[in-house]
Amino acid sequence: MPIRTVTVLGAGTMGHGIAHAAAAGGYETRMYDVAAESIDKGRRAVEAIVAKGVELGKVTAAEADAIRRRLTATTSLPEALADTDFIIEAAPERIDLKVALFGEIDRLAPDRALVATNTSALSITEIAGSTRRASRVAGMHFFNPVHKMKLVEIVQALESAPETLQAIEDVARRMGKETVLVRESPGFITTRVNASIGNEAFYMLMEGVATARDIDKALKLGLNHPMGPFELVDLVGLDTRLSILEYLHRSLGEKYRPCPLLAQYVKAGRLGRKAGRGVYEY
Ligand code: NAD
Repeated sequence: MPIRTVTVLGAGTMGHGIAHAAAAGGYETRMYDVAAESIDKGRRAVEAIVAKGVELGKVTAAEADAIRRRLTATTSLPEALADTDFIIEAAPERIDLKVALFGEIDRLAPDRALVATNTSALSITEIAGSTRRASRVAGMHFFNPVHKMKLVEIVQALESAPETLQAIEDVARRMGKETVLVRESPGFITTRVNASIGNEAFYMLMEGVATARDIDKALKLGLNHPMGPFELVDLVGLDTRLSILEYLHRSLGEKYRPCPLLAQYVKAGRLGRKAGRGVYEY
């Protein structure tokens, strides 16, 4: 089934970037959000990406206009889902909310429509299991900021059909992304590895093995990581990292136990750049 129309549910941090990527990939794109302010903000954010692309010579003025024309935005869910081919859900990370939204998708979207969820950690099998179309649901995990990050993790839930995974791969490629396929598992590939490295770095700091600056420097210059683990956790948020580790610890076992020093930093309010201080002061 050729995919012509893509609907993105949620116009927040991830949703607007995904909608931009879909429109830039040539799809008729609809961006939906419950909040009119989020739609306005999402539209402005897409416009900023498009304008910057023209300024940098990555897209021509004509291509930029075509992207703008292909992207519409609405707060009406029936309008967003009517006769659409492919839905990407990027609503808040709450299972109750996602299950309710997937119920609406079942009710309002055509049966043929495939649904990809951008969830970072919720069970896609559980979300899919709440619908009438479990074989047409899978994960499509983008990275922030979407227009700069090349990777999409395609996540196979228990009942995702091979054709669904193939269609997601095709869409991702048209968006200019590279893909990896992963079976549903806590943290997929990237979050699991990244959380482990970050946790190990905190253990080393706690044990006094080296300073934070030297651990960051070692990973950047010795292992070619673009950012050090402490620079990265300050960007991600120490509270976010702690809750990811708690989840991996609960679901995968002892080796993911969050380092006590990380928990202590969070208690002290050292949450990272957003708080003005994390491992480093800003
Ligand atoms: P966000 O809070 O920035 O945006 C969520 C948007 O969803 C908001 O604009 C909100 O108004 C809207 N919304 C609320 N209820 C809705 C509903 N019922 N239907 C549609 N939209 C609704 O969140 P985000 O960071 O964009 O995260 C969205 C999803 O992407 C989450 O599942 C998250 O785990 C995942 N994710 C986030 C990142 C990241 O770095 N932020 C990376 C990968 C995946």
